[in-house]
Amino acid sequence: MTEQIYLSSPDVGALEEEYLVTAIRSGWVAPSGPDVDAFERELAARTGVDHAVALNSATAGLHLALLALGVGPGQSVVVPTLTFVATANAVAYTGAEPVFVDCDERTGNIDVDLLAALLARTDRRWPPVRAVIPVDMFGRCADYHTLLPVCAAYGIPVVEDAAEALGASLAGRPAGSFGHVGVFSFNGNKIMTTSGGGMVVTDDENLASRCRHLAAQARQPVAHYEHAEVGYNYRLSNLLAALGRAQLRRLDSMVARRRELRARYAKAFAGVPGVRLLGDDGDAADLGGNCWLTVIVVDPARSGWTAAALGDYLTRRHIETRPVWKPMHRQPVFATAHRMLTGAADRLFANGLALPSGSALGDEQMSRVLAAIHRFVDGDRALR
Ligand SMILES: *Cc1c(COP(=O)(O)O)cnc(C)c1O
Repeated sequence: MTEQIYLSSPDVGALEEEYLVTAIRSGWVAPSGPDVDAFERELAARTGVDHAVALNSATAGLHLALLALGVGPGQSVVVPTLTFVATANAVAYTGAEPVFVDCDERTGNIDVDLLAALLARTDRRWPPVRAVIPVDMFGRCADYHTLLPVCAAYGIPVVEDAAEALGASLAGRPAGSFGHVGVFSFNGNKIMTTSGGGMVVTDDENLASRCRHLAAQARQPVAHYEHAEVGYNYRLSNLLAALGRAQLRRLDSMVARRRELRARYAKAFAGVPGVRLLGDDGDAADLGGNCWLTVIVVDPARSGWTAAALGDYLTRRHIETRPVWKPMHRQPVFATAHRMLTGAADRLFANGLALPSGSALGDEQMSRVLAAIHRFVDGDRALR
């Protein structure tokens, strides 16, 4: 039977096993412990921020970051329409409304001109904007050089959804450090994994301790169980933090591997008319992206085939692919949400295809993927 090749499978091995076993033997099998503390310190150092709070998901991190900023009912939060649903869900959890803004078709990141136009609106049809959540799409930082001054001009805090971007940077500055608060994900398919987990990072000590407090059921620091407000059970297990510490040690090599795969795709599609790599307007390493997923964008009028047809062809050959995120303004759950659109996200959804990009992908597997792509591009369209 042909082995299945996945889009982005976990890359774990002996080092992770060693850290996990050591943590179990330490007896700290709880949602706190020395590995949680160390993981927070190490990730804060890696990101160049003062504080980090380990959580059981990035979704929880986005939720707490918004709560800590005081976001709630009667307010709105700007979210790029091209993102994973967690970004918008976290807004909904607070009782605020997401407002969807379209993306820059070149990179898939939030369209800052459109964001500026939205913030400049003086009519009061929408609830006041209380935060903006740029997403570092597929591991490439949003355009913070232009975005941060726009948000600062209105005094609006930025929550950086860096769930896909750990290890990426922009002009030498690490992803996650651009907003008032940044959020990372360690889900199974992300750049590194704890099987499930997340982290809030910030230079704001009050914001960090507020997140920490809310994540532990808002328990007051007294011996009896005292609670003055509703909290959440969002803390990360010490065992999973140990797994995360091992992964963090290997992060650079995992990013290097993903960049290598990106370069091989770039070469494979270089002469193919009507195909570009999303966000590939230079050398991947220069751009600072972590190359979490490599996405091609197909112009069927020029290529003679669609992204979906290549996806089907690869699926039949046990090679996993995926469309880019279905835009939030197209999701039934957010059907009535406010939006400012140009059509860019819709076009990327129609014409984009994410290819196997995981750092655990071996050379032989990658050769199989590229050989299948070459055959398809050369005219073999059979859905055998
Ligand atoms: C994966 C992802 C999340 C959610 O991360 P979890 O850790 O699974 O909660 C949020 N935002 C984006 C952009 C993501 O890709």
